[in-house]
Amino acid sequence: MKVNFTSRNVTGLRERLAGRVVLPGQEEYDATRQVWNASHDHRPALIAQPVSAADVQATLRFAGDRGLPVCVRGGGHNHAGYAVADGALMLDLSAMISVRVDPARRVATVGGGATWGTLDQATQAAGLAVTGADVSPVGVGGVTLGGGVGWLHRLLGLSCDNLLAAEIVTADADVLRVSAQEHPELFWALRGGGGNFGAVTAFTFALHPVGPVHAGTVICPMERAADALALYQHLCDTGGDELFLRAMVVTAPPAPFIPEQLRGRPVVILSAAWFGPSGRGESALRELREFGDPAAGLLRPLPYVQLQRMQDASVPRRVRAASLGGFTGPLTAGVIDALVSAAAQPPPMSMVELQPLGGAVARVSPDATAFQYRRAAHCLAFLAAARPDDPGAEQAVWAEKASGSLPAGTILAPIVHIMGRDEPEDHVRAAYGGAAYARLAAVKRAYDPGNMFRFNQNIRPQPQVLSQPA
Ligand SMILES: Cc1cc2nc3c(=O)[nH]c(=O)nc-3n(C[C@H](O)[C@H](O)[C@H](O)COP(=O)(O)OP(=O)(O)OC[C@H]3O[C@@H](n4cnc5c(N)ncnc54)[C@H](O)[C@@H]3O)c2cc1C
Repeated sequence: MKVNFTSRNVTGLRERLAGRVVLPGQEEYDATRQVWNASHDHRPALIAQPVSAADVQATLRFAGDRGLPVCVRGGGHNHAGYAVADGALMLDLSAMISVRVDPARRVATVGGGATWGTLDQATQAAGLAVTGADVSPVGVGGVTLGGGVGWLHRLLGLSCDNLLAAEIVTADADVLRVSAQEHPELFWALRGGGGNFGAVTAFTFALHPVGPVHAGTVICPMERAADALALYQHLCDTGGDELFLRAMVVTAPPAPFIPEQLRGRPVVILSAAWFGPSGRGESALRELREFGDPAAGLLRPLPYVQLQRMQDASVPRRVRAASLGGFTGPLTAGVIDALVSAAAQPPPMSMVELQPLGGAVARVSPDATAFQYRRAAHCLAFLAAARPDDPGAEQAVWAEKASGSLPAGTILAPIVHIMGRDEPEDHVRAAYGGAAYARLAAVKRAYDPGNMFRFNQNIRPQPQVLSQPA
């Protein structure tokens, strides 16, 4: 039965929370329910903004007593917009962003609603860092729970590989500390199984010394795309863990760093970061520099925090986004040709993006965490984007057509982080990996049997009912 929440029937919750409760009709309701992907304009039944694990406990008790499903907002940047849902209790963790860094132990503990910008700023003050997203407003929560790639994953492993412990409030409103020693099966599931198991109120990460990096971009016109992608694959094979690369095909914006003759044309942008000894940075990036047209000499030493914010300006605060793609094997000449034709003419604001796995990611056993596709060579994404007031249909069709034109078998499996909303169950199973899915479903049954946390790439708590042969 649908309940309309009003000031009267949330008085008890308001009294128990140090944080806020926002109801439909309140002035801040519309702004609070907004997420990065403007295609997801959902109306939660109420929004709770806790400031502590005790607040989260009280909120989940309230939801449990009323049979309300809960959607969790970390940084609000999920492609499928699962941080918000019609009729749900939206648990908005954006006030839980404190960071504690212990430089001596090289450990940081961060609130469940923090962004990578906040965490990196604090850790870099001590010359330390952990793998995180490549743009600063994205949430630590969503990224880490799904795996977590960024500039540093080839050197340091995924974000989830560096997770030492988490504090989580489960559907029963229990506050658990989870680590390799405490609730180890839940700890395994949190590292790749998404937000299926509860609300994580704090993440504790191992940190590593990360000094200034040698980084930047080179840009070339689409006519040289096949050579650019071949160079990208070659450098991924030979550059070692300290070299991180990303390849993007975009229609070049009229930005100052784009050479004038390339503006408005499809181009390949190769971004690179060298995390090895600074003296070797120049030579490590020589092949890239010599490839041609380095836009205004953009390969240069810069602090990690600046690298991590380098792309912020090109990511709008909100867009209508649709994303497709998945894990791939190495780029053979055949795959490169297919990609070059598929990517040929991205609409404005849209792009094809490739980033390599390998390095430290591949050295972790696939059994160690729920993140399964450690031996894949690349993450490939067709990212369609339009302004919030543009339906974005043309961009979505482009992404669909481009990804659909790749030869069968190019995509090995979908990527949890860039999947859409309400995907068919077989896609969700494939994204987690079949064997891992069964293990994740067992953890889900143990900690969230009623599927309170269902707004995510959802792992069903019930065993699949197979139809009996007649
Ligand atoms: C511009 C952009 C750049 C990106 N860059 C990267 C990148 O470099 N690397 C990468 O790995 N991914 C990247 N992503 C993908 C990103 O990992 C996912 O979109 C992720 O879901 C975003 O997390 P969030 O906390 O911001 O999102 P939200 O929408 O707040 O959360 C997404 C889901 O995660 C779960 N969740 C979040 N926080 C918690 C928590 N504390 N407790 C329990 N559940 C929680 C919930 O199920 C929620 O529905 C990027 C996405 C965008 C839009």
